[in-house]
Amino acid sequence: MNEDEFRIARKRMVEEQIAARGVLNPRLLAIMESVPRHLFVPADDLPWAYADGPLPIGYGQTISQPYIVALMTELLQVESTHRVLEVGTGSGYQAAVLGQMAAEVHTVEVIPELAAQAARILTDLGYTNVHVHAGDGSLGWLETAPYDGILVAAAAPSAPQPLLDQLADGGRLVIPVGSRGFQQLEVWRRTGQEFERQVNLAVAFVPLRGEHGWK
Ligand code: SAM
Repeated sequence: MNEDEFRIARKRMVEEQIAARGVLNPRLLAIMESVPRHLFVPADDLPWAYADGPLPIGYGQTISQPYIVALMTELLQVESTHRVLEVGTGSGYQAAVLGQMAAEVHTVEVIPELAAQAARILTDLGYTNVHVHAGDGSLGWLETAPYDGILVAAAAPSAPQPLLDQLADGGRLVIPVGSRGFQQLEVWRRTGQEFERQVNLAVAFVPLRGEHGWK
């Protein structure tokens, strides 16, 4: 496939998989149409880069389904002035989308090889406001806290307290919570010291590891 074909596939992805399912934020849809997802997937999977599902990225991990990337970003209500934390960098694709939406993005990956690879791709593509860190993101990333939004791209047994603590006033946490095979997407909102939780749709993510994950 050439760049023109990828561009057409990306436009169809946005129309048929994302907007058709009710994600309608115009700025987000334009960004989903611009970020070259095919550069974040393994070479063998290029023909499926814009397909309606997750794909393997090695080390037993996946790049999330495009619709889920868009939905979680929409639920986070990211503004262009925001500082955002992502837990679970994986391929770096979700971080690239967040980087286009926000002023500054920090993303933490527990598998050092994936962190290094994602950092390389993001640098090559010029996403200079996205900072990749290797480590246990279930602890958040204290150095650059607080965050206007925290997006967790792996399934947790419950919302980790350090992530709630690292939310700014008015900040949101979007996180899949539940058992290893089945989770629900939770949206937490902080107001002062109060935390309000809403439950969104059912999802299936790989497990969050680490201190506040599945160990
Ligand atoms: N957002 C990614 C993307 O766009 O490709 C997909 C993330 S993948 C579904 C989940 C990732 O979370 C995996 O790469 C996994 O290694 C990582 N992960 C799991 N537990 C973690 C932890 N405690 N801290 C940081 N990353 C973690």
